[in-house]
Amino acid sequence: MTETFPKIIWSRKYDSKYVNIVWKKGKLKFENPLYLPFEKEIVINSKTCTFDQFVLHIRQMIQTAKQFKYFYIGFDYENILNFPLLKNQKIQMLRILFTQIVISSYSFDTLKKNKESIKEIAFFGKILKTEQKVMESEIILGESINQARELINTSSNRLSAENFTAKVRELISKEDKCSVEVFDENEAKKRNFNLFLAVNQGSHRKPQFITVKYFGATSEKRKPFVFVGKGVTFDTGGLNLKPSGAASLITMMHMDMTGAALAFGTILALAKMKVKANVIAVLPMVENAISDKSIRPGDIVTSHKGDSVYIGNTDAEGRLILADALSYATKFNPASVFDVATLCGSTRIALGTFATAVFSRNETLLSELKNIGSSVLNPVWPLPLGDEHVNAMKHPLADISNMQRMYNGGQSSTAAAFLENFTKKYKKNTEWAHFDVVSRRVSSPKDFLAQGSLGEPISLFVKYVQQKTQRSK
Ligand SMILES: [Zn+2]
Repeated sequence: MTETFPKIIWSRKYDSKYVNIVWKKGKLKFENPLYLPFEKEIVINSKTCTFDQFVLHIRQMIQTAKQFKYFYIGFDYENILNFPLLKNQKIQMLRILFTQIVISSYSFDTLKKNKESIKEIAFFGKILKTEQKVMESEIILGESINQARELINTSSNRLSAENFTAKVRELISKEDKCSVEVFDENEAKKRNFNLFLAVNQGSHRKPQFITVKYFGATSEKRKPFVFVGKGVTFDTGGLNLKPSGAASLITMMHMDMTGAALAFGTILALAKMKVKANVIAVLPMVENAISDKSIRPGDIVTSHKGDSVYIGNTDAEGRLILADALSYATKFNPASVFDVATLCGSTRIALGTFATAVFSRNETLLSELKNIGSSVLNPVWPLPLGDEHVNAMKHPLADISNMQRMYNGGQSSTAAAFLENFTKKYKKNTEWAHFDVVSRRVSSPKDFLAQGSLGEPISLFVKYVQQKTQRSK
């Protein structure tokens, strides 16, 4: 894999190698005093333009530069401060803008001869050292998001669970206060990760149960924030095989490890930004393949937690590996556990491509997550989770089923209810939420970002940890 982020240049003096994106006389446009290789202007009404809209315009400008194969973009720092809504130096927004510039510069072009990513981004003019430090931290966040997107976009033949582990080790080894622990098949057996192993048993590729730790808080004893991510490097559906055709999206199933990459991108960002928090990422990595060894519909497997699980459908495998991982997370006595997954296609029916679904019974947490999400352009929206969904997952032959016995719809919610069962041993004050990212898995034209993964909601996760950490100081 190649670099997934542009080189960042800070310079007092402008260099004409770069085409600057400037805000002048009510317009966003490109500027270069010597030679302008392409032009585009966006007229903006600064009275009505929201910050989100403005960011979309910036993304659009950067996509335009990419289309014209111009890979050296600049910004005049003083000029940036005149952008609509940034005039009074609203530092929060300025931070988000810096992250967004890095996110926009990325394209998945690793395997293409014709590159499409922005190579360098330069910031010109006077900037205080302290301010530069703050913005560099936001750039790191953007880079970590791009790193996660690169992993997600990588095809399955190039990214097995073992390749994923190698990449995690490589990236984490450069960071302080971090460690990586990997359980192989034998170790997973000893530890009763039976649901995790069941999903992988039809594949000749080896499963990997990865735990990444970053202990950046002043005390080792401070309760950690835990992120659990679904890591299915390819999902055939198992014996409940996915059909071909556009609707089933089987060609996107190399992205079924999106959750794991997002959880990893989050801990990578927090470690690189040196946020004073303890953070753990639990990444169960498997492949859901078909062979004579595959798990069969109707099998009953005893989970890590000890509950027997009826396998009603082998394509509902994400929740199985998450169940063991959520149960394993109990031992860390976490402050919060967020699990993140591409879980149910029905989430996309409910929310379109407009928001990531979030499930929790903690109303305060839900509104907090909604607020943070909308402030960092990672929209999330709650979907229901109640006792009726728990009841729907009961089964006469086992403690719980991974699929509703009688189909009543509401699959995203019954999946959340299934997961909730495996958080039952957490302490009362542990905050748990489940994020189903199916709806915001890949970009749509309205996002003005490169094709492929969006890397959402890493920004939300990072801001959540930052806010909690600042509050508890
Ligand atoms: Zn599946």
